[in-house]
Amino acid sequence: MKIGIPRALLYHYYGVFWEEFFKELGHEVIVSPHSNKEIVDTGIKSAVPEICVPIKIFLGHLKYLIYEKNVDYAFVPRMISIHKGEIFCPKFMGLPDLVKNGSPEISDRILTTYIESKTENISNYKNYISLSDKLNANEEDIKRASRKANIKWLEFRRNTLRGIPADKAAEMVKKNTVYKKNNSNNIKIAVVGYVYNVYDPFLSMDILDKLHDLNVDYMTFEMLDNKTIFSQISHLKKRLFWTFSNKLLGAGYYSLKNHNIDGLIHLTAFGCGPDSFLGKLFEIESDIRQKPFMTIRIDEHTGENHLQTRIEAFVDMLKRKKEKESA
Ligand code: SF4
Repeated sequence: MKIGIPRALLYHYYGVFWEEFFKELGHEVIVSPHSNKEIVDTGIKSAVPEICVPIKIFLGHLKYLIYEKNVDYAFVPRMISIHKGEIFCPKFMGLPDLVKNGSPEISDRILTTYIESKTENISNYKNYISLSDKLNANEEDIKRASRKANIKWLEFRRNTLRGIPADKAAEMVKKNTVYKKNNSNNIKIAVVGYVYNVYDPFLSMDILDKLHDLNVDYMTFEMLDNKTIFSQISHLKKRLFWTFSNKLLGAGYYSLKNHNIDGLIHLTAFGCGPDSFLGKLFEIESDIRQKPFMTIRIDEHTGENHLQTRIEAFVDMLKRKKEKESA
């Protein structure tokens, strides 16, 4: 069977697991290409205008897999929780319904399951057992595939924790490639944003590569371990409801406190509710810590020149600040 996985949303975090899982069960896996104008336009047409951009892009990828690649099923997981007492943003929890109600003509081609875990490790076979009939697999097959997929995903996570960007970390596992990170010992910026914004080259306009070209080191949230991240927000009376938002908050706070990090960029997508909380919290904390902070809000119309200019200006400002401090 041909199983399609949209290269969008949490593919950028769990793609290594899901690809291996379906392959281990003997299916052909087709991942949609990187976002491009056609995919984004299809997504925009398939979604209600007020929904956030990453969901629109997800819908574009999904339609591409069904109509262009003619997959038997496209995988649309219902992500519930990966942290005790916290949930996913409601758009993740309702994603299969959003797809089926918005495009009823493709509802029988959607492969979905509840994914719920107390930690970010989603390899418990019970998360996938509901797929056994459609995948022609028995319980033992599902257990075996989950185990094998987990080995790959843990390798991916080890790579990210060594400071390797998530897209390169995934490539290393899937293609056995080597990635060498060159630290410039120059300016270091934390780029805090959801993986589906940072690693979607169309949406982020390759922000990490742009920083690299400017000889700037960067850190993203998945390069920090969960213990470090969550210790940064342990003083809060109330955490945010959404796990990935809490991860970004912890990573942002860490970078604002850390003397080796010169500034913080919050990369956010137009229409994101949880990010409106995050942005304000970063603004307050950056004032307290006296650390430069910039928000980059991206949508399907953001111009590349505009982004380049803002990044260059931010980097110039950080360089001048650093020179002044060392003088
Ligand atoms: S967290 Fe924000 S960007 Fe992500 S799905 Fe929810 S609303 Fe959209």
